[in-house]
Amino acid sequence: MCLMCYGIIKPNFLLYPCMIKKLLQRLFEPKNAKHQNAKSGNAKPKSRRKSDYAADHQSAQRIPSKAHKIDQKLISHAAIKTTEGLQKAGFEAFIVGGAVRDLLLKKHPKDFDVATNATPEQVNRIFRRSRIIGRRFRLVHVMFGDETIEVSTFRGSHDADSEHGKTADTGRILRDNVFGDQEEDALRRDFTANALYYDPSTQEILDFHHGVADIQSGTLKMIGDPSTRYREDPVRMLRAVRLAAKLGLKIDPATEAPIPQMAYLLGDVPPSRLFDEMLKLFLSGHAIESVVQLRKHGLHHGLLPLLDVVLEQPIGAKFVNLALKNTDTRVLAGKPVSPGFLFATLLWHEVLITWQRYQKQGERPMPALHLAMNEVSDVQAEKMAIHKRYSITMKEIWGMQPRFEMRVGKRPFGLLEHPRFRAAYDFLLLRCESGELPMELAEWWTTFANTSSEDRLTMLQGLPQQEQKPRRRRKKRKPFSQTPAHD
Ligand code: ATP
Ligand code: MG
Repeated sequence: MCLMCYGIIKPNFLLYPCMIKKLLQRLFEPKNAKHQNAKSGNAKPKSRRKSDYAADHQSAQRIPSKAHKIDQKLISHAAIKTTEGLQKAGFEAFIVGGAVRDLLLKKHPKDFDVATNATPEQVNRIFRRSRIIGRRFRLVHVMFGDETIEVSTFRGSHDADSEHGKTADTGRILRDNVFGDQEEDALRRDFTANALYYDPSTQEILDFHHGVADIQSGTLKMIGDPSTRYREDPVRMLRAVRLAAKLGLKIDPATEAPIPQMAYLLGDVPPSRLFDEMLKLFLSGHAIESVVQLRKHGLHHGLLPLLDVVLEQPIGAKFVNLALKNTDTRVLAGKPVSPGFLFATLLWHEVLITWQRYQKQGERPMPALHLAMNEVSDVQAEKMAIHKRYSITMKEIWGMQPRFEMRVGKRPFGLLEHPRFRAAYDFLLLRCESGELPMELAEWWTTFANTSSEDRLTMLQGLPQQEQKPRRRRKKRKPFSQTPAHD
């Protein structure tokens, strides 16, 4: 998609350049290319009859609408338009994965994914507002209004090393771009509940691994041998815990058993991928339950230092639990959550401990805090890379904390004007509620923030003498050049 098509540059012609390009591509591509199957290149019939695909998918159980009772109203219009567009062009297309699972559980799906036998390029050609993304796993984002549908081509199995698929010595899949048919695609998905394909045009579910029965019995079960599947992708262990906590499912015993012994494999996963997965976990609306489960399965070590240590200390555990509970309440109420704030809370006690250590070594409080903040962020980044935009917020919130205890002169007024005051104040409330600081401080700031300027002055004058006394100014050091070389 070019800049003109996004409306960033004004076009001089009636046709946009990338529309012209697509038109030319369509005119000059081989006649049957449009209908080629992603895997075999076989021409597909333009319009599909029910009987055609019944013959194609003998290994799948076909579940009609009256049996699965999915509420059509919960299905995204954009997802239906995407499957329709692909089917009209002669391809197979289904709503797949988490959305079908959530619909069966009568939950509102967070997002909708579509699987098809069209290649990413073919999908891209069908939808004007679409773009190919990803390297490790290439797929297409199709945009309708502000909704984005992720369209992936059916994946197949591949050898350890080929142009399109790559596996590390440990068995971890590094690249997964080998296309296959629908049955192979189902086999490569993680859990039986995630390998369901819903066709909006027939309203049928294709179920290759008894996922519907597992959902009905409340079980999360890995497809294939769990140990092999965890070796291929250790993140599946985190997904098992997250999905079980979020959906109230029980992890099948054979799926659960290898997790504690294989948890160390997470050390091999790129830090940025771990961050994305942990963010999903913390923002699932079930963060508390997820953390409990992570600990139960021994998956917390090394992911976040705080989960190793802090949950064992009474104040640390109380602080983190309060923060996660707040987050869960906000997510479930549909309110926005700031990941920067969340990670600031999760790492705070690590910062506190390090801050105290630097002060004991003779550093003054503010430089000691900044040293601690940098050290904690650096150690964290080795395991799980927190996006820069979130770590900036995180550090701002931490850096403002000592200022809440300096209720002297003009300082509280300056703090009130800070663009991050609200977040830093909410953070202070958590510190007080968890018992780290006296509640009086939180109450004082709540009143101070919500009263008139005159009352603020009175409040400052009413503080104990000790707190009001301005700090002694340090003597200005002589410039370096004037200091005698040998004293
Ligand atoms: P959520 O509700 O969090 O979106 P989800 O299962 O839809 O859960 P996605 O990350 O959106 O999670 O993935 C969509 C689908 O892709 C999954 O349902 C599953 O079929 C497949 N999938 C995702 N991650 C993996 C993985 N690591 N291994 C195998 N299949 C996966
Ligand atoms: Mg999903």
